[in-house]
Parts: sequence; C-alpha cells; structure tokens
Amino acid sequence: MHTHDTIVALASGQGLAAIALIRLSGEEAITITNKVFKGKNLLEQASHTLHFGTIRDGAKIIDEVLVAVFKAPHSFTTENAVEISCHGSPVIVREVIKVLLKNGARLAEPGEFTKRAFLNGKMDLVQAEAVGDLIHAETDTARQVALQQMRGGYSKDLAALREELIHFASLVELELDFGEEDVEFAKRDDLRNLVVKIQHYIAPLIASFDQGNVIKNGIPTVIAGKPNSGKSTLLNALLNEERAIVSDIPGTTRDFIEDEIVLGGIAFRFVDTAGLRDTTDIVESMGIERTLERMKKASLILYLYDLANTSIEEIEAQEALLTGLSGATIIRVGNKVDKAKTELLAFVRSKQFVLISAAQQQSLDVLKDKILEKVSRQEVKQGDAIITSLRHYQQLTQTHEALERVLEGLMTELSGDLIAMDIRQALHYLGELTGAITTDDLLDNIFSKFCIGK
Ligand code: GDP
Repeated sequence: MHTHDTIVALASGQGLAAIALIRLSGEEAITITNKVFKGKNLLEQASHTLHFGTIRDGAKIIDEVLVAVFKAPHSFTTENAVEISCHGSPVIVREVIKVLLKNGARLAEPGEFTKRAFLNGKMDLVQAEAVGDLIHAETDTARQVALQQMRGGYSKDLAALREELIHFASLVELELDFGEEDVEFAKRDDLRNLVVKIQHYIAPLIASFDQGNVIKNGIPTVIAGKPNSGKSTLLNALLNEERAIVSDIPGTTRDFIEDEIVLGGIAFRFVDTAGLRDTTDIVESMGIERTLERMKKASLILYLYDLANTSIEEIEAQEALLTGLSGATIIRVGNKVDKAKTELLAFVRSKQFVLISAAQQQSLDVLKDKILEKVSRQEVKQGDAIITSLRHYQQLTQTHEALERVLEGLMTELSGDLIAMDIRQALHYLGELTGAITTDDLLDNIFSKFCIGK
C-alpha cells in the first residue's frame, strides 16, 4: 500500500440510489478528475467549491455530476481530495470509477481514507476508530458516544498527560547518566502527583467500559422456557412491534437488524433464536440441558412459563433450577394469561412474574418496562467520556497497572532505573492507545475492519 497513490472508492452505499458519492484522495486527485471532467478547469478552483459538469471517457459522456474540490491540507485526509456526486446507478458508479482508474487512480483499500487521515496527523487512533463506530452505530446512544470519541474528547487529554509523563521519564533517565552522584532532577513529589493525576483520569474511563460495551454491542438476550411456553410467539411479537415502529417513520427503508429490539437507547440482541424460528424442530423441544446451554449465552434471560399448562409444583421445580444459575439477569414471565386458571394467576402474581399474552400481544409494554428496569443503565450525558472498545480498555488497564508500579517504586524508594522502566511501560501503553506508537499489525487490524470508501 503506497501512501502517495491517489485512491478512489464509492463512499455511499451499494445499490440503486438517487445519488452516489465517489471519493478520491491523494496528490493527483484533482488532476486526475480534471482529465475526465468537462466543465470548469478544476485545477484553477478554490478549495471547498462545487462544480457542475460531465464525466467523460473520451467522447463518451458517462453522467452529469457535481464535483467538490478540497485542497490539501484542508480535507478529511489532509491530502488533495475530490468528491463526485453522480446519479446513483451501479452502472454509472462502475464506469466513473473505471475511467478514474484508467487515468491514474487506484482502488482504495478498506479504511484507507481514515487510515490516511490518521497517518497524516489529522486525528489520533482513537478518533479514527470512532469514525468506524459512528457509521456502525445502531442506536442513538451509540451514535452519541462515537461522535464524542471522534471529536477527540479523552484521547487528546491522554496525549497531553502522556507528554507530561515523557518529561519526567527523561529527567529520571538523566539522573542515571550521573551514575554514583546523588542527583535528583525529577522531583519525586511532583512525579507522584502527576502519576496520581493520570490514574484519576484513567480510572473512570476503565470503569465506563461495562456501560460502553452495552452501548456499542447491545445486551445479549435469550428467551427461554419449556417447549410450547410461547417463546417464538413472544420473539415474533417483540420483533414485529419494532419493525412497525421503524417503518412508521416516513422515508426509512432501514434494513432490519436481525433479531434485535431497541429499548431506551439500548439494543437487546436475541441470541440463538434459530431453534425458536422453526417450532417444528424436534431437537429444540428436547428439554432442559439445551435450554440451560442457551441461557449461558445471555446476560438477560426472559424465562417463560406456560400458564395454560403448568402446575404450581412444576413452576417450583423450574424455579429451583433457575436459582442455581448465576450471572445473567432473569425476568420471569407468565405467558398465556388469557388461558390461566385463577388459582395459578394468584400464585404467579405473588411471585411478581410479569404476566403477558404473547399471542394476543397483551402487556408487552409491561414486559419492556421491566426489561429496562432490570438493566441498570445510566443516562449518557453529552460530553461523557465512555470507552467502548476492548482494545482501549486493555491498554488503559495496563497503563494503570504500570503507573501503580511507579507509585510503589516511589514509596519504597526504588532506584531510578527501575522507576524509569515502569514509566516507559506506561508511556508505551498510552502511546499505543492514541497511536503515538503504532505497528503495522495494529493498524491492519483496525482498518481492515472498515469498509472500502471509509
Ligand atoms: P415455543 O415452543 O416456546 O416457541 O412456543 P410457541 O411460541 O411455538 O407457542 C406454542 C403454542 O402456544 C402456539 O400454538 C402458540 O400459538 C400458543 N401461544 C403462544 N402464546 C400464547 C398466549 O399468550 N396465549 C395462548 N392462548 N396461546 C399462546
């Protein structure tokens, strides 16, 4: 991958659309476009201007387009860049890209635009990763957190703190040059204060990961219960309601995220629903081991009782099994209230089960409220720094541990060279986090997950 090449890719979605956006970046971006564009001379236009004309392959007119020109360093990648808005037909997109390739551009690799923005210093690594998160955000809360991260909230602070720490590292190392002489350039109290300050900054970020993970990845949810308790009926009822809500919004033709509902800004992903969809599946009706197996995949379990066909003794027996489970939050649901005997109703009410009829879509709202109540969630406020990436979590944790060793070293008056080693480690982890230190593997790992055109 050559970073001085001019790259091109479709930046908008695949398939038919009113408009498609093709993006170029690189030194030759404007020159190459100018070769195939008939209209004003793009080389003479100011940055951030828009021009109408046609894209041609020799004498053949491919489409009428609008071309936006961005001049280095004032673009997303800091390089010369062009955005061509053409009619959103896959044929046009293909032909336009083909003629640009013929004139010296090459196809962009996944995430290459964002990678260039990072390599050219336009954003740090945490911000670059947030671009991907923002595009993939499935809820409004996830969008908000990704946007905050992209705008450079905590990573900028961490970079500044890292600079302060670098200063101390060099002072401590300078002392080492003086060998036997008893000099102390790095005031130990100041160093301790800085380390504590960094730890105070990092600790809440580390603690925010639980919440961040939920915001980004949703809550894995399982609907469990004996065969015929109404699991698939409930799943369908919940998903259909969600679909109805979304398709009510005019103009949305959103592709549905399979088996997911959004409540209170949090996505609940129904996992392992394959068996539930095919109710004639014999294997699925095979009892408790399989049910327990499924329940292990969840952090939230909706456990259904069939109130039309279950005795109090059976419920008590199943409850005994459930209480043996740890970890996941379990919500007990009494289904088929429409067919329940009064005596049984009184019993399950006393146990505070949520009573619904999945088939008649009765009290589903009560169930949803219960779900939200059980999932402890804090409101995300504008400006909250929340980490959502496992990579960030691990690197912050390692930084914190290294700083802890620095503090211990200071307390026990460890020799300067050992303290310097721990400081260097902390600097390393912090540097990898923000991208001040990178390896090809790390970058490949991050940007290969992006789509082409990002
Ligand atoms: P699963 O095996 O747990 O997935 O159960 P199903 O969803 O396939 O439901 C089993 C049967 O119970 C089906 O015939 C459903 O129509 C019926 N059923 C589901 N929910 C209710 C309900 O709330 N009331 C009544 N009367 N029947 C229901």
